[in-house]
Amino acid sequence: MDTTPYFNLSRITASAGVQLIAVSKTKPSGDILSLYELGQRDFGENYVQELTEKAATLPKDIRWHFIGHLQSNKVKQIAPFVHMIHAVDSFRLLQEIDKQAAKQERVIDVLLQLHIATEETKYGMDENQMMACMEYYEAQRATLQHIRICGIMGMASNTPDQEQIRSEMKKIYAVFKTIKQTYFIGKPYFSVCSMGMSSDYTIAMEEGSTMLRIGSMLFGSR
Ligand SMILES: *Cc1c(COP(=O)(O)O)cnc(C)c1O
Repeated sequence: MDTTPYFNLSRITASAGVQLIAVSKTKPSGDILSLYELGQRDFGENYVQELTEKAATLPKDIRWHFIGHLQSNKVKQIAPFVHMIHAVDSFRLLQEIDKQAAKQERVIDVLLQLHIATEETKYGMDENQMMACMEYYEAQRATLQHIRICGIMGMASNTPDQEQIRSEMKKIYAVFKTIKQTYFIGKPYFSVCSMGMSSDYTIAMEEGSTMLRIGSMLFGSR
């Protein structure tokens, strides 16, 4: 595996203070180890079964990020070890993560997924749904002690139109700011705006991303 892209990207993100998640879905464990040996510790996976199989054999100090769509009935499989769940798209899922984290006597970090109207995927909450979810969360915060909402994640449309991508990322960042100022004043852990993939990470960094999720640029196309 060619590690040159990793060298370049990790230098860029480190100097900008942006976190780099290496998205290893569908890639063999050997590729993960190649980057692990260079110091990378944060890896992203999309599928529960693939994640649990890889996590069982790979080094225990890897921080696993679940970045795919998560069904409530599968939360318990990753709750013992997952570091962060990126794509929370309902209050019900938040409650389930809290319940499973409580059973493991841990606190799981989560991000809320914002759906951008023109994006192809159906997953995520629009801004109104996200604010409604936060109202439920506020009302029941005392009973939800085993999750920590650390920020939001979003994906720009898969389009060659750079200005569309930029305006969608501006939107994601604006919602991140609004939620931070409305619900997380004085809570420094709410600091993550996760946006930017292989094709659009430059724009994402310009628009305020604090966390990139990069797959094909590091591991080759899938
Ligand atoms: C696959 C995936 C990525 C990485 O995409 P690349 O284009 O390969 O960099 C990022 N985020 C999510 C949610 C993904 O599913």
